[in-house]
Amino acid sequence: MVKIKTSMLTIMNIFNLKTNSNKLYSTEYIKKQEEQFICNNYFGNSKNDYEYKSGNIPILISAPHTVKQWRNEKCKKADIYTGALAKTLHRSTGAHVIYKARTNGDENCTTRETEYRKKIKEIVKKKGIKLIIDLHGIASDKDSDIDIGTGNSSNINLLGQDYILSLIESSLGKNNYTVNKYFTGGKTYTISTYCASKLGVPTLQLEINKKYRSSNSKNFSYMANKLTAMINDLSNKVYTPEDK
Ligand SMILES: [Zn+2]
Repeated sequence: MVKIKTSMLTIMNIFNLKTNSNKLYSTEYIKKQEEQFICNNYFGNSKNDYEYKSGNIPILISAPHTVKQWRNEKCKKADIYTGALAKTLHRSTGAHVIYKARTNGDENCTTRETEYRKKIKEIVKKKGIKLIIDLHGIASDKDSDIDIGTGNSSNINLLGQDYILSLIESSLGKNNYTVNKYFTGGKTYTISTYCASKLGVPTLQLEINKKYRSSNSKNFSYMANKLTAMINDLSNKVYTPEDK
């Protein structure tokens, strides 16, 4: 009897895993997620500077370029659909997420402790965050689906926990990813450097290719599923540091 129960559970687990990792998000769903950022020509429609959604795993996803930014008095384009992606990953993995809800400065180009950064600090403290992923976008002509920034070639922003990169590499397998090829996230003014050096939490900057950042159902779903599987792998490990 016990045996039958166990095998049924195993089958259910396999089935669940399969449905979770191959979810197809509709164009309508994706557009709805991105709507609040596209508003006002990508300046966002919120009165609030940022929004935070509480999760149940010790991983925080940050998306600071969901809307346009002001950098040195120049207006910079949004990393489009990183907002839709962050909200989707919150649902699919249970990760905490924080994302910019309206244009106000540039969170990834400042040494100030902005409201957004103060909130990250508070989440880290209250929720026991073990890993931060700062989500960005690269252009479609870049030869990489995901460029993983660890600060520099010695993975300074991983704070000695290089097993995180190994886990990501084994999770992504044969996918077309690169490490520190286009952006490292290692400059003094980045969110990654702030989180690693000031908050003491290992942080990655993930740059997602534009190919996967649109309302195209197939492409968006492909990336959302890849990142979901990767975050699930990571969350299983960051819970038990003795396994590293
Ligand atoms: Zn960016």
